[in-house]
Amino acid sequence: MNIDDRILDGSRFAAEIRDEVAVETAVLATKGIVPRLDAVLVGEDPASQVYVASKARTLAGLGMISETHHLPATTTQGELEELIDGLNRDPDVDGILIQLPLPRDVDTAAILRRLDPAKDVDGFHPENVGLLQQGRPALKPCTPAGIMEMLRRAGIAIEGQRAVVVGRSDIVGKPMAMMLLHANATVTVCHSRTRDLASVTREADILVAAVGVRSLIGPEYVAEGAVVVDVGMHRVTDRETVENLYPDNPKKLAAFYKRGAVLAGDVDFTAVAPKAGRITPVPGGVGPLTIAMLMANTVKAAQARRGL
Ligand code: NAP
Repeated sequence: MNIDDRILDGSRFAAEIRDEVAVETAVLATKGIVPRLDAVLVGEDPASQVYVASKARTLAGLGMISETHHLPATTTQGELEELIDGLNRDPDVDGILIQLPLPRDVDTAAILRRLDPAKDVDGFHPENVGLLQQGRPALKPCTPAGIMEMLRRAGIAIEGQRAVVVGRSDIVGKPMAMMLLHANATVTVCHSRTRDLASVTREADILVAAVGVRSLIGPEYVAEGAVVVDVGMHRVTDRETVENLYPDNPKKLAAFYKRGAVLAGDVDFTAVAPKAGRITPVPGGVGPLTIAMLMANTVKAAQARRGL
């Protein structure tokens, strides 16, 4: 199989999910229901602003309503909690998204706990975390839920497979491990204290890298034929780094020369792709799936709140 055939095209699967969401919103529209997602953005982080704007555009394109509450970085815990209480009470609001990270002075865990679990479209509230752990219906974190959708749609077997997740964050690593476990994989979770990481990751039939360290996963971490899912997202602006990362990739280099930056992952794609059975690219892999699942969760919340 050549490398193009091995690529797990997250954008394609995300488009499928968005099409399905559009069908659901059309059905809801016939009942006079327009799902609404309210995003809470605190501070001036440019990346967060881009994410929220892009989510809002996608929602609008799928027949949903989005509102953004953009608050200054000086917003207090009390003010934020007051806003969340209001959104929890508002019958027109189906989903609430707290764009992370919040400013350092804000107690993020307390804010997430404050959300109505029925409107928690990111699946970060402890009630949803607990339901996920128990394998019961819940709003699930979008990134790992999107990865599961991709694996399912790509026909990749999970049951009985060895899955290794590198990273144990609450938003990616832990829920990813839980979802793979519920799908009957044998799951190992690695983190910064794991000894001899490569010897563990080489055991993986399915390897998920959610580390936040650019290009950490090289070929020595990957078994021949493994499915490699790269969650990492790093903006690279240094020319030499980009030329080293993508020496024979004219498309990537052209994109860099045009825009002055490219996105790279936690996996060294150039070196790992020839060895992997299937592999997600960055961009165009996990990122679009995350947004598509947010759309799906918003519709799900809108339906569930009305007992549909
Ligand atoms: P995070 O909260 O920083 O967690 C990183 C995890 O990786 C931690 O568990 C950490 O271990 C582990 N780790 C760090 N360095 C390691 C090393 N050298 N060896 C082994 N494990 C190591 O990050 P996150 O929020 O999960 O995000 C991970 C990456 O995914 C980031 O690049 C982020 O930008 C990206 N991301 C992308 C999407 C998307 O939609 N594509 C969504 C979310 C996140 P400890 O627990 O021991 O510290």
